[in-house]
Amino acid sequence: MKKMTVALAGNPNSGKSSIFNMLTGAHQHVGNYPGVTVEKVEGVCRYGDYEFTFVDLPGTYSLTAYSVEELVARNFIINDRPDVVVDVVDASNIERHLYLATQLIELDVPLVLAFNMSDIAEQRGLRFDIEQLSMLLGAPIVPTVGNKAKGKEALLEAICDIAEGCGERHPHMVHYGSEIEDEMAKLERIIEEKASATAAKYGSRWLALKLIEEDADIAERVASPDVLAATKASVEHLREIFSDEPEIVIADRRYGFISGACQETIESTVESRHSASDMIDAVITNRILGLPIFLALMYFVFFLTFKIGRYPMGWLEYFFQWAGSGIGGLWPAGSESAIKLLLVDGIIGGVGGVIVFLPNILLLFSVIALLEDSGYMARAAFIMDRIMHKIGLHGKSFIPMLIGFGCSVPAIMATRILENRRSRLTTIMVIPLFSCGARLTIYMLIIPAFFADNVVLHAGILTVRTQALMLWVIYLIGIVLAVACAKVLRLTVFKGETTPFVMELPPYRMPTTKSIFVHMWQRGWLYLRKAGTIILAISIILWVAMNFPRASADSLAGLDAEAARQAQLKHSVVGRLGQAIEPAIRPLGFDWKIGTALIGATAAKEVFVSQLGIIYAVGSTEDGTRNLRKQLQAAYSPLTAFCVMLFCLIATPCVATVAMTRQETNSWGWAAFQFFGLTALAYVAALLVFQIGSLLGG
Ligand code: GDP
Ligand code: MG
Repeated sequence: MKKMTVALAGNPNSGKSSIFNMLTGAHQHVGNYPGVTVEKVEGVCRYGDYEFTFVDLPGTYSLTAYSVEELVARNFIINDRPDVVVDVVDASNIERHLYLATQLIELDVPLVLAFNMSDIAEQRGLRFDIEQLSMLLGAPIVPTVGNKAKGKEALLEAICDIAEGCGERHPHMVHYGSEIEDEMAKLERIIEEKASATAAKYGSRWLALKLIEEDADIAERVASPDVLAATKASVEHLREIFSDEPEIVIADRRYGFISGACQETIESTVESRHSASDMIDAVITNRILGLPIFLALMYFVFFLTFKIGRYPMGWLEYFFQWAGSGIGGLWPAGSESAIKLLLVDGIIGGVGGVIVFLPNILLLFSVIALLEDSGYMARAAFIMDRIMHKIGLHGKSFIPMLIGFGCSVPAIMATRILENRRSRLTTIMVIPLFSCGARLTIYMLIIPAFFADNVVLHAGILTVRTQALMLWVIYLIGIVLAVACAKVLRLTVFKGETTPFVMELPPYRMPTTKSIFVHMWQRGWLYLRKAGTIILAISIILWVAMNFPRASADSLAGLDAEAARQAQLKHSVVGRLGQAIEPAIRPLGFDWKIGTALIGATAAKEVFVSQLGIIYAVGSTEDGTRNLRKQLQAAYSPLTAFCVMLFCLIATPCVATVAMTRQETNSWGWAAFQFFGLTALAYVAALLVFQIGSLLGG
């Protein structure tokens, strides 16, 4: 069995991950906006007597050294020297996608072009002369449909051929015109002389080209003063001739080459007209309508989350109630055995209280996946681009922020698509303000407890109800705060220019059920795993910390059951901690019980809910969530409840987020800044709302 490494390269949204999944049978996240694949991912596939290791590289438009992603992709190709590189190209949008191909051709790697989305290209009436185009580009071309697993055999066949060296390979170099070619030839000679080792490794023509493009990474690798001096002279000379950056002239030549090649080999069978995609975009990304449509859609998403999620949630509640009383029934009635209490109140109460929200999580994420896959999310980023520019960020920053609605951890990782370090740091700092899935659990507990589901507005088919509106408001507050904080950061700590950027709008696509299902499953599984591990562990620890040390029998004498329980709780480790911070949180309307839950929430936001569940449900036999809501309603005012949600929205990113910030910024300082900064902001916000709210009479 021969082992081969095959790298998958391609623009974001070209369907790389879909092709990767098709080849390896893996379940990589596929999505319709850039930045979903940040790390390179590997998978294995056997074919004939080959064992291929496929590496899904981050999506890139080119191979410059400007962004982390492009560097990751490029370094893999030039250092790890994969046996074959497959460039996944969106055949329906060919000219833009071939840019990367020209750079791979220049690198002189064994290359196969997968013309993906060939179904869409066909629908649009594009007809390719594959043979001719493949001659011009010097690489075999295989049409594929990634999401329907079409073209797998042919692609593997082409990879084998290239790997064996028997496929067609006559690399066709782009010709950069005599001025640039002359300078390149000059540099090549000096490179071969002064940096022969580097030249042998990467090829002197490629090095010369990159040096003229003023690629900092390559300049560092070459590191010969003679070469760098010659480069400087060449670049200045070219700048004078073209009165433009050589880098830009080079890019123009590449596009020229592509457009020439396409003109000769692609035929359009339908006369060019506005495609359906363009017509939809005219409305959805409209200057005036775009934002209201986006906000309305988001409201609708939350509405669905509530409305449909209620039913399966009821079944789960019933199940845990049944399980709790079943297990409790193993002990004689009235038993106060510690094991029984730990099992029923600690574990089933804590973990079950979190799991009942699984349907809401699944619903929310399947709708978001639907928006993502159809291509709407990329439009949302486009709509936000205008606003983003006002606060000194890119539309691109909005993509990690959107991911932040799922979980801050991958969102912070996704900021790697941002070229500018200041924009990147700013984005990382505000990401926790985009309310994550874990916090949804908290809102799902509190909102129905305190806010009746009245109809607020009724206009035609549009009905706005209190609960969904509440949820929408909370999310919106997060977004508004994030925008404000980003603006402040960009004006102070991270001052500097923004880089201009053109947002790509992928065409609309019909999402496949499979892809939605994979999304939902991944999310749901993560949630369940978290409930089964971290939250289980924390529930047990907290339960112990809540029941020990035991209060003395004397101090409990004469109290009824409920009062005795409260006294015991106050006496415990958790009770004492909560009471210790109570003076600090009293002005926000919080008591020590909320305080203890907030401490638990630092480990994972869901713990807030399980913690309250344990505090209030101890000794009770009624069912979990509904009973808890009743008790909360009796104990707190709606104003306090709102402040709790507000505080949880803004405050203390969870431990995992802090760790990720530290990893991605490479500094404990920034992680601490984020942690304490957000907590302080939460405190001030909740304080203001509670105090002003109280003055106005709640
Ligand atoms: P990546 O960013 O390059 O990894 O792209 P993905 O694999 O995440 O795909 C982006 C979107 O395009 C997903 O919604 C896929 O389901 C869809 N997609 C992928 N390949 C094809 C294809 O050949 N035809 C069509 N119609 N859609 C595709
Ligand atoms: Mg991908």
